[in-house]
Amino acid sequence: MITLFNSFTSTKDNFEPFKKDLARIFICGPTLYDYTHVGHARIFLTYDLLCRHLNERGCGTDVLVNMTDINQNVFNKAKSESQDYRAVAMFYANKFAEDLVALNVKSVNRLAYVSDYVEYVENHIAKLLDNKVAYYANGNVYLDTSKIKTYGMLSKQSHDQLLRHRLDIGPNKKSQNDIMLWNCSENFDFAWQSKFGEGIPWWHMQDTTVALENFGTNYDIHGGARELLYPHHEAHLAQYKLFSGLENPVKIWMHVGIVLAKGEKMSKSLGNVVWSKDLVRKYGQNLLRLYLFSKHYREDINFDENQLVEKKPFLDKVHLAGLKASEKTDSEISGLIEAFLEALDDDLNSPKALEIFENICSKVMAGKNISLVDFERVCQVLGITT
Ligand SMILES: [Zn+2]
Repeated sequence: MITLFNSFTSTKDNFEPFKKDLARIFICGPTLYDYTHVGHARIFLTYDLLCRHLNERGCGTDVLVNMTDINQNVFNKAKSESQDYRAVAMFYANKFAEDLVALNVKSVNRLAYVSDYVEYVENHIAKLLDNKVAYYANGNVYLDTSKIKTYGMLSKQSHDQLLRHRLDIGPNKKSQNDIMLWNCSENFDFAWQSKFGEGIPWWHMQDTTVALENFGTNYDIHGGARELLYPHHEAHLAQYKLFSGLENPVKIWMHVGIVLAKGEKMSKSLGNVVWSKDLVRKYGQNLLRLYLFSKHYREDINFDENQLVEKKPFLDKVHLAGLKASEKTDSEISGLIEAFLEALDDDLNSPKALEIFENICSKVMAGKNISLVDFERVCQVLGITT
């Protein structure tokens, strides 16, 4: 049985998908105005590892990634380059797709561009207004979070704690933590006509709509960086529950830790951004996987190029063990392969799995037997190409 740490229950929960043997996974995707940095790469590599492991355990995967092209950062970039927002978004969408290929991420099978869903967003918000769980204020439309009893449960915040946040600030909101659904009050360089006025669909509602239109009223795993837990995922869950009518329409909320650089959050202004494409070009995706998977996905990590390079002897060992692979597998090695898979069953414990894999490689180099089929099976789970 595979267990995954669920941010909603704060425990490792048994993973049992709604549909037998098919895990439907939504990953919060890129905002299309810049390249993929190593923090983003870690997210997609984590879920790729999860999917590869699920596949190994006989469960299929259906992975949806939203591509955020309606966003102020995209518009700003478009304006500064005197381009349409679509041209900017498409450029970075292509770069993102190239990065996934370079990272050997094969699990993502649906990319949903938010701008293709605006009409659906509008219809969904109209329903919330009809049902009186949304309201107009300041020229915008907001979700009335007081109507959702469980609001705050995902991010583990009491009503008082929630009230301390001032989101989407506007004077006439019923509560300052209410979430924007459609923004008509700001002057955007690109805007959409709607029954609420000219404006843009707000980001939480974009994702809810993408999920509803692709997966219907439930799916199994929602993934993304831990920093998205509040308000983004809390808001998405609140909205999604209203449409699905289910108490738990998403089984597991699975969050990946942050990758810091020089102890700080990566940002262009600090000049500490590490781009995925540069790392892959310099070291290859195999080494990047061995480095990132040597830390548990829930940990925050401080990116350290030296630690990445230190994985080189391990990778050499993998290649040498591969050269020694034969036709049969000794029972001791079979046992270790099972232990490797069991480590991944346990909330994707990749550090432990890698230790076992290194042990397997050492034993094979010392004369134990592993079949090529078994060796490739393990590499396939890790996404290591030989
Ligand atoms: Zn999202």
